[in-house]
Amino acid sequence: MKKVLVLEDESSIRSFIVINLRRAGYDVIEAETGEDALERLKENPDTRVALLDIMLPGIDGFEVCRRIRVTNSKIGIIMLSARSQEMDKVTGLMTGADDYVTKPFSPAELTARVDALFRRAGGESAPESNVIRQDPFLLNTRNRTLEKNGQRIKLTQVEYSIMKTFMENPGKALSREEILDMVWGRDYFGELKIVDVNIRRLRLKIEDNVQNPVYITTVWGYGYKWGF
Ligand code: CA
Repeated sequence: MKKVLVLEDESSIRSFIVINLRRAGYDVIEAETGEDALERLKENPDTRVALLDIMLPGIDGFEVCRRIRVTNSKIGIIMLSARSQEMDKVTGLMTGADDYVTKPFSPAELTARVDALFRRAGGESAPESNVIRQDPFLLNTRNRTLEKNGQRIKLTQVEYSIMKTFMENPGKALSREEILDMVWGRDYFGELKIVDVNIRRLRLKIEDNVQNPVYITTVWGYGYKWGF
């Protein structure tokens, strides 16, 4: 079953989301509070995507996201933000979310985002038995894991996809649009900024010195390059 968790305290918005995701073929689990959401996820470990509202009574969506990520790097996480919460977007991504959707959103937009994450969360593509070694990195495309100097680096699905894109294109300058297409898919509705935010977070995980990145370098006014 394609299981998705929806955390939203406003029942009208929650029903709107739930109805549309069910219509799109998802098995939807609902939660009204952050605490509730964490509990439901424990009961449903096969949940592959979570939609988390930010403003909630009790613990907020960021905290829920942070707690999920402590034990689960595989699940796709989409933050639901209100239009005025511009800064929340970035913070949300930095705490481990893969994407965000700004309210109000259309059913088509929402389903497209969930579909995209769902595909990346390991659902459909057949795993290739392969490793890409570019010292000190080793990417295992069967297990979807990354090691640096033999140490596992915990990545979200989006971060993994970005790493794979880079390691398959060593030394090639990739525009932000290309990265967005390759990682998020051509039907993606989002903004280019999401590329920068994810790369900033990826650098924190893989670079020796984030102030002076050497693995993922910036190509000014264009995009990024993987190369030494
Ligand atoms: Ca709310």
